[in-house]
Amino acid sequence: MKFSLLIAILILFNLSGLSQRVEPPFWWIGMKNPKLQILVYNKNIANLKPVIHNSYITLAKVNKTENSNYLFLDIIIDKDARAGSFNIDFYDGKVKSYSYNYKLKSRRENSAQRKGFGPEDVVYLLMPDRFSNANLSNDNVKGMLEKVDRLNPDGRHGGDINGIINHLDYFQNLGVTTIWINPLLENNMEAYSYHGYAITDFYKIDARFGSNEDYIDLVQKANSKNIKIVMDMVFNHCGSNHWWINDLPSGDWIHHFDKFTRSNYRGEALMDPYASNIDRQIMHDGWFDNTMPDLNQRNPFLANYLIQNSIWWIEYADLGGIRMDTYPYADQEFMVKWVEAVYKEYPNFNIVGEAWLQTISHTAYFQSTTFPGSKMPGKLHSVTDFPLCYAVNNSLNEQDSWTNGMAKLYMTLSQDFVYSNADSNLIFLDNHDINRFATNINSDYDKWKMGMTFLMTTRGIPMIYYGGEFMMTGDKSKGDASLRKDFPGGWDGDSVNVFENKNMSKLQVESLDFTKKLLKLRNEHKALQTGKLTQYIPENSVYVYFRYNDSECFMIVMNNSDKESILKLPRFKESFENYSGIRAPGKKEIDKIPPQLIIPSKSALIYEFI
Ligand code: CA
Repeated sequence: MKFSLLIAILILFNLSGLSQRVEPPFWWIGMKNPKLQILVYNKNIANLKPVIHNSYITLAKVNKTENSNYLFLDIIIDKDARAGSFNIDFYDGKVKSYSYNYKLKSRRENSAQRKGFGPEDVVYLLMPDRFSNANLSNDNVKGMLEKVDRLNPDGRHGGDINGIINHLDYFQNLGVTTIWINPLLENNMEAYSYHGYAITDFYKIDARFGSNEDYIDLVQKANSKNIKIVMDMVFNHCGSNHWWINDLPSGDWIHHFDKFTRSNYRGEALMDPYASNIDRQIMHDGWFDNTMPDLNQRNPFLANYLIQNSIWWIEYADLGGIRMDTYPYADQEFMVKWVEAVYKEYPNFNIVGEAWLQTISHTAYFQSTTFPGSKMPGKLHSVTDFPLCYAVNNSLNEQDSWTNGMAKLYMTLSQDFVYSNADSNLIFLDNHDINRFATNINSDYDKWKMGMTFLMTTRGIPMIYYGGEFMMTGDKSKGDASLRKDFPGGWDGDSVNVFENKNMSKLQVESLDFTKKLLKLRNEHKALQTGKLTQYIPENSVYVYFRYNDSECFMIVMNNSDKESILKLPRFKESFENYSGIRAPGKKEIDKIPPQLIIPSKSALIYEFI
């Protein structure tokens, strides 16, 4: 009787939503930073006294908040500590009422020296719910609120981690060296949960995508094919169903307003020298959406929580990079500290911050030391280069003029002096939030080839949005779902299967083949990845630039006019004076450098000097 009563209480306990949590769930020995702050969540845990009896572990401070269900334990791990575990004993007076065994693991070999993605890579962005459904048994998971519904464009379609693992050969054959996957962490929301940006558990892969172990499996298998995995992280907000929302550690954990207040989405307010305080405050404290409470990173415990969470995933999952969502929306003082903390632990790592701003100077603000005089010098190596994306999309649809057409590409890149490291900008023709490139150019194959050639040969880290490799279309005016359609062949019974080259249109076959050849060329030549860039002022709708290093030299010619153009080479002599031969695009033989070349209308050609 007594036992069943206990069970009943325990069930009640769980139903109330309060279940024990210890986060990070484990940690490592030998980290550069010996400090660790452990969150312990349990009913009235703050009324107990934690004690650690271990000569290598110091409990430096016990932090309480206004909520007695939380403790934050400051731990120092001695440099001589060995892998294993230690007990955290919780005393009620002299009685030990509860004990937690905390694990410390050994680090991966060379973990601290891990290399993040960079200009030598080609990144592929995919939305996991929309890529491939390999495991039908995880489409619906008990306890997860939203069920699979492939007929609902905004619903969950069932794609999962195994679907990505099954197609690692596809990425390898395509020439992709890095995969950025939209967030995989748990989003246990009632609806519209497929995109992953309303996280309800920062330490758990969403069960409908797989398990934490499946994610590790993916990273290991990708790494074995020399493909890095970039994790998409979100620090600005969480999902309104996050486990802590109904029992916050403190009132200032999230930003509250008298009534629902949405961010003004004006990132410019952060650096605008004339900005009002209210605009700036609503920019970073307003909610991104009504289901996404805005986290207050100025709370020091939350700040530690987020920093440790990112380091935990890098170390645990062996990541090759982080993409940080909505970078300008979080507290900038915190974000700078966060980037510093990650680079201190992993000096060769890379983080790209999503800085979705319209202009070059606003974007550059977030890059490392770009504006050393600013109050808040940026620390990021990589920023998302939206201005260049807009320039490409516009230029190919424009008649050339002093500022339009090819001049737009020229003028955009000529402003790179404001970036501290434009070579590390993440460059793209489209992504999951904007019109697909093929749609913007009305599926014009010639324009598409020009855009792709530019993307793979100009400066920066190029990124392809899934399906972009075979001209997938998507129109934002029809809703985000139009940009995030299922990858053809990712589901059993798909009539078109890109993985198996089944029922593909001629245009899909040709464009996919073009992408493969382009990526192969880029991957084979360092000059196209990390080489210097020299560009020439466009003339007669023809834009010429060179990518080169000490041993390689490539000339890219883009003709945006409706007529073929005769390109007289002497003007570009300074860029190829050390060479005597030229290899035409797609050719094996080397010719003597001619005085002029004929460039077809609406084309982009890559010549190699030998
Ligand atoms: Ca599935």
